[in-house]
Amino acid sequence: MNMDLTQYFGCNTFNDAVMRERLPLAEYQALKNSIENGDELTSEVAEVVANAMKQWAMERGATHYTHWFQPMTGVTAEKHDSFLAVGDNGRVIMEFSGKELIKGEPDASSFPSGGLRATFEARGYTAWDCTSPAFLREDSSGVTLCIPTAFCSYTGEALDKKTPLLRSMQAINKEALRVLKLFGKNEVKHVDVCVGSEQEYFLIDREKYLKRDDLIFSGRTLFGAKPPKGQEMDDHYFGTIKERVSSFMHELNEELWKLGIYAKTQHNEAAPAQHELAPIFSTVNIETDHNQLVMECMKKIAARHGLACLLHEKPFAGVNGSGKHNNWSLVTNEGENLMKPGKKPHENMQFLLFLAAVIKACDEHAELIRMSASCPGNDYRLGGAEAPPAIFSIFIGEQLEDILAQLLANGKATSSKERELLRIGVSSIPYIKKDVNDRNRTSPFAFTGNKFELRMVGSSMSIADANTVLNSIVADSLREIADELEGSIDFNDKVIKVICKIINDHKRVIFDGNGYSKEWVEEAARRGLPNKESYVDAIEALTYKKTVDMFERQGVFSKSELEARAEISYEIYSKTVNIEARTMIEMASRKFIPAAVKHAKVIADTINAISSALDESEADNMREMLGETLEHIGEARRALKTLIDNVNTASRLDGEEKRARYFRDYVVKAMKNLREPVDQLETLVDAELWPVPTYGEMIFEV
Ligand code: ADP
Ligand code: MG
Repeated sequence: MNMDLTQYFGCNTFNDAVMRERLPLAEYQALKNSIENGDELTSEVAEVVANAMKQWAMERGATHYTHWFQPMTGVTAEKHDSFLAVGDNGRVIMEFSGKELIKGEPDASSFPSGGLRATFEARGYTAWDCTSPAFLREDSSGVTLCIPTAFCSYTGEALDKKTPLLRSMQAINKEALRVLKLFGKNEVKHVDVCVGSEQEYFLIDREKYLKRDDLIFSGRTLFGAKPPKGQEMDDHYFGTIKERVSSFMHELNEELWKLGIYAKTQHNEAAPAQHELAPIFSTVNIETDHNQLVMECMKKIAARHGLACLLHEKPFAGVNGSGKHNNWSLVTNEGENLMKPGKKPHENMQFLLFLAAVIKACDEHAELIRMSASCPGNDYRLGGAEAPPAIFSIFIGEQLEDILAQLLANGKATSSKERELLRIGVSSIPYIKKDVNDRNRTSPFAFTGNKFELRMVGSSMSIADANTVLNSIVADSLREIADELEGSIDFNDKVIKVICKIINDHKRVIFDGNGYSKEWVEEAARRGLPNKESYVDAIEALTYKKTVDMFERQGVFSKSELEARAEISYEIYSKTVNIEARTMIEMASRKFIPAAVKHAKVIADTINAISSALDESEADNMREMLGETLEHIGEARRALKTLIDNVNTASRLDGEEKRARYFRDYVVKAMKNLREPVDQLETLVDAELWPVPTYGEMIFEV
């Protein structure tokens, strides 16, 4: 497409402009009130909207619609219905009622519910989320109208990732407004959470991808020796983008722009074959939907270019993994960013109070944040000296640290460190005004000038959980602050006291050093900061008493919903490792060991055929080659047997938590023990005989 971007941007979304054009004024305004203020939508209005939506979609070739939802699998789900209905005399008519727009009832009993719903109680409902625009999905199979929805059980419990996210947005809106009122901001109507999620991913050749069962079934390589060259030269980072990749990016951008997604930045990442896409931020529920669409489009469009897109957190051992940077801020309907310190942060008590609220929330619920950004794949990345450590801390930068120190020492702050000028020693190049703070790449949660950047989230994950947690804990911290400050006589004094108390109580979570270092692990332990080394260890944070109390107070999760989510998390872990282990068993038994045996036979045959011509030392040399191969084969066979035994034992265990722990402690270890001899064999066996593409072939030959 060579059209003007401003013309086609958002053309596949039922956005504000389309609504204004196609809806009668009264219905348009009613819908707008629902979207912006959460007013309830009447069935009459829904009827009119449904009709307009159907007309609009059909004009663009849609024949089907789907309620698009986000069950706890972390990916999206949909069930398609056509608009087709039978009219008078058997005539076909196209119908889409208000009821069909508002409510769906997929059976969907196979989605994880963590015991919230027995299979025989199969009813689940999808309910239209009018705050996120409906969109059209176009591909070779046709055009479908997709309606973003929330998914809940017959008794109203959330079965998805969107419902709690929407609840948490309400919570933070309510508590933030209370605090703003204290500063005299009575005219602010609502406070939105804004998020921009930077997405990392790998692209490799599709033919090679299809030759590897591990990539197909588990999204990551379960075997693979180190290539001669890795990322040590740093020549891929921000390097020139190869043509095949850039034509993929070009098509991806166009598709995303049509969906109203502000795809903005793209570059090569640190590892060979690794890239990143960053959009301009949106309101968090829309951004959550958009990020799902970004991942979906990446996979789909990669295939069109003969590529495979890998969204796993660690597709290649020893090579940088992928994450998602979740940039988070609070913005009022008047456009004021509450995370913006302004020119003189030391005088900006409102900002400092919000900052304190974030610090308090993060220190009190560090393990919960760690949990919300965890998935089985992220265990291979967090703390791996490339991604933030599993220990949660906050980086706020020199300027803010200095202000907080002044407050603590003197009960007031009188100055803010100023921006310096940077001259680079070439007179023709203008001087640059430096940011007040340098960056800290190693921090899990860094203040970056006007937002916080949570860097722990895994690349394959939905951003819903992490934001649900951030919104809820900050809401709860603002609630406590508002309770304390409302009705206080000397407000200005009291604010400073509240800030000082919070900083004093919670400063241990602030850290500006190297988060990758061993010293930090020790230092964090001294500070009493939690260090949940793995996903399985982190899950229990979902059901801590303080977590349940906080979520219940904020109306985000009930105790039973949290217990269900913990169950599901253990289950997801076990299932993931089980699939990986079984894939390894299959690949080792049917591919790698047979290839190594063939290789051994070639050596043995050679020894037999030419032994008379060999002198003793040459024959010894050949036998040594053979011996080495056979030794690794033997080791692989023994490891294979242990892995099979452990997988079988795991499947017989009762209780999700117990099973997950067994998988982590025994199965994962057995997998590692199988990988080692097979990777050794890869370095010995004739390349012609090796049954799958190697690391070098996958990541350097795109
Ligand atoms: P950085 O260079 O610090 O990574 P960028 O300006 O490149 O920052 O932005 C990174 C991401 O953060 C982008 O997705 C951007 O839209 C988003 N972002 C910028 N400002 C905000 C904000 N106030 N709230 C939330 N996200 C933001
Ligand atoms: Mg960033």
